[in-house]
Amino acid sequence: MGERSFFVNPTSIHEGRADLVGPVAHQIRNVLRLRPGDEVELLDGSGLVLVARLSKVSKEGVVAEIVESRWSDSEPEVELVLYQALLKGQKMELVLQKGTEIGVSRFVPVLSDRCISRPDARDMARRLERWGSVVREAAEQSGRAVLPVVAGLVRLEDGCREAASRGPLLMAWEGEHQLGVRGALTEAGLVAVASDERAGRRGGLVVSLLVGPEGGFSEQEVEAARAAGAVTVGLGPRILRAETAGLVAATLVLCHLGELDG
Ligand code: SAH
Repeated sequence: MGERSFFVNPTSIHEGRADLVGPVAHQIRNVLRLRPGDEVELLDGSGLVLVARLSKVSKEGVVAEIVESRWSDSEPEVELVLYQALLKGQKMELVLQKGTEIGVSRFVPVLSDRCISRPDARDMARRLERWGSVVREAAEQSGRAVLPVVAGLVRLEDGCREAASRGPLLMAWEGEHQLGVRGALTEAGLVAVASDERAGRRGGLVVSLLVGPEGGFSEQEVEAARAAGAVTVGLGPRILRAETAGLVAATLVLCHLGELDG
């Protein structure tokens, strides 16, 4: 029901009733042209899915009665964080949209030495606004129950330290020919699991990925990232575009952890 799933502000839900206004109400009323009696899924962003039946649809707003609530099973157990060096043009939007569909939970834009795109504060604020809507739309379309986060721009070393303090940090580097994603996860004690084993795993697992810009990472950056706790991983013998590499790495992590088994 991706089309009829909407992230709503938890404050719009009160005592079994949802009072919706603004873009969500517009989408329900004018785009989908839903009527009283129709059902929608409301997501408060915590992972809870609220099935609600429309009781009033007017230009003032939309009212719906909550008829059922359940925990979503569409969220990975692992919090997968993608630290992506700034890319030119629409490529960041592609990474955000596809990463959201695949199961990334947090995106952190990174400023590295060879980033061609070097936005000023105002431009960065505008991009973060746009990126937030790209993620929201992809999350609703793909049936995510928790809205992935788009964090503010960080410097490479700060991002590495932050990531390494929360769990394994895998730096995708085309100069790495010994270790791949699965090997690095196994070395970090995260053995491959089948999907039915996944349910028993405790929460709190965080895995971070770091992907470079179009021009890649410098040797100095690789060394600095390693010193800050990153492990370099290869993604095969072919050179992937940056916007491809993050999605391949995310898929490898989620597959290894049993999150993509149907
Ligand atoms: N140095 C590359 C350009 C960088 S590719 C070239 O020769 O054209 C952009 C980013 O994608 C890299 O910084 C790296 O993070 C990732 N990447 C691309 N191919 C990769 C591979 N085979 N293994 C690991 N990472 C890769």
